Amino acid sequence: MNTFEKDSSYICGTYARFPVEITGGCGCVLYGSDGKEYVDMGSGIAVNTFGQCDSEWVSAVTDQLAKFQHTSNLFYSGPCAELAAEICGRTGMKKVFFSNSGAEANECAIKTARKYHEDKNDGRSVIITLKNSFHGRTVTTLAATGQDAFHKNFLPLTEGFAYAEANDLEGLIALADSISPAAVMMEIVQGEGGVNALSEEFVKGVADYCERTDTLLICDEVQTGNGRTGKLYGYMNYSVVPDIFTTAKGLAGGLPIGATVFSEKTSGVLTPGTHGSTFGGNPVCCAGALSIIRRIDDALLSSVREKSEYIVSELSSASGIRSVSGLGLMLGVETEKPAAEVLAACRERGVLVLTAKTKVRLLPPLNIPWDKLKFAVEVIKSVCAE
Ligand SMILES: *Cc1c(COP(=O)(O)O)cnc(C)c1O
Repeated sequence: MNTFEKDSSYICGTYARFPVEITGGCGCVLYGSDGKEYVDMGSGIAVNTFGQCDSEWVSAVTDQLAKFQHTSNLFYSGPCAELAAEICGRTGMKKVFFSNSGAEANECAIKTARKYHEDKNDGRSVIITLKNSFHGRTVTTLAATGQDAFHKNFLPLTEGFAYAEANDLEGLIALADSISPAAVMMEIVQGEGGVNALSEEFVKGVADYCERTDTLLICDEVQTGNGRTGKLYGYMNYSVVPDIFTTAKGLAGGLPIGATVFSEKTSGVLTPGTHGSTFGGNPVCCAGALSIIRRIDDALLSSVREKSEYIVSELSSASGIRSVSGLGLMLGVETEKPAAEVLAACRERGVLVLTAKTKVRLLPPLNIPWDKLKFAVEVIKSVCAE
């Protein structure tokens, strides 16, 4: 049996995979078992921040691997402490809890929001999230996800979530005034929901409401974090400061990690025994993450914004393309053809794109070289124009 046959025989059928087996890669180029080379415009869904097998990242990871690969969280370890210090130093936040995925990072944020209000004994436990959001696949983060399509088949979900329309500030405030929530949780750019950036007015209005009412503001930066939107974290585009933010996907450049990051106000909520993780803070993942986050400097962020502007200006005026949405190198392209057709035609021509709802989704490695980016953009344009 080849990989395709073995996979369909033995892997649980949760993924509708594309007919490509990846056997290797270098930077933004992926090698397929078909002998073809592909330009990667997905980064494994915003994970491979600096592409495949980036040499600095490989050294950081393998150096740590040769020292020790795991210790329980009952002992101290350098990479974990150093990464937390780096994240706090770069954001002004105060404490970090490490886990292994985006959903877990959000679970921790939700537990913290509940305990924050439990500690105050004020009876507030409901969390408002946005319609069309995506926060994960565990039973609680599914409840947080404001899309019925994800809920069906898995009821009952965790109680205590209410949903507000994105970009409708009055609506959210009216809902919040009626239920006095513990927190509002949102993605600055809704990724899985179709790459829609929230409006600045809405984000600022929600942040202001949260501050006035002691409602915790939680930003889900699982996808928007770590330079993806052209700022270190997405909320920085709007000059707001969350009480908690979560991140995961791109943080360790391709290794599993989740981080829940607390401001002064929420930094003391979780105490010994209230939360934990066997693998969370794994030294190999943390060493990889440290090497990634240290390279997300002003020069890199400005090149992310420059490449973003290039893609937007090339594509938004191209024939067969209706509009381009998103921020930084997290872009959604509304095409006249169905997105799945564009995806398949791009793949035929050596460019791997993703989709989100009805859009073609672009999430290239942050350091994609200009020549590869231009090639990918030309392929997308010509596919859409046909
Ligand atoms: C991907 C994603 C998650 C879930 O992350 P997992 O690592 O798959 O659990 C949560 N929130 C957002 C915004 C995401 O994009």
